[in-house]
Amino acid sequence: MINIENKRVLFCDLDGTLIKTVSKAVFPKDVTDFQIRKDVLDKVKDLGCFTHLAIVTNQAGIPKFVNKEDFVAKLCCIAKFIEKYCSVNVKAVWCSSSDSNHPCRKPNPGMLEDLYEEYYDPMSKSMMMMIGDASGKPGCFSDSDLKCAENFGIDYMDVEDFVML
Ligand SMILES: [Mg+2]
Repeated sequence: MINIENKRVLFCDLDGTLIKTVSKAVFPKDVTDFQIRKDVLDKVKDLGCFTHLAIVTNQAGIPKFVNKEDFVAKLCCIAKFIEKYCSVNVKAVWCSSSDSNHPCRKPNPGMLEDLYEEYYDPMSKSMMMMIGDASGKPGCFSDSDLKCAENFGIDYMDVEDFVML
């Protein structure tokens, strides 16, 4: 069992975790096709233990399918909103590489390592955890969020289990 009260840093996947599509499509139809998952933000707020939230997202659609400036604008607006709504410090990074060997593409832990070195060091990794929807559950499309947390060495929880806490 994860000791949530001791956690201060919450690493979060973006698509399917902090936001979902309005269209119900798996991939956003365009850059406006998203809505905030209020259930997730309310849980972050209610738990009250987190001081930092870090969005870590694979975005291999940039720049071929998604315009980079549009995506950055969307990500900044989401980060700003979460910062205000949940009263936490928010960082947001993305990896646009589709190369599974790229150190920053989840399940590789490069994005978390970079954030840790820049902002969270020397905080103990026992005070950090990650949530995502790529959790390798039966029927799940991927386990890249789960594996990313394991590779970085922190606790992990599927987002649907997180909202049920
Ligand atoms: Mg996801």
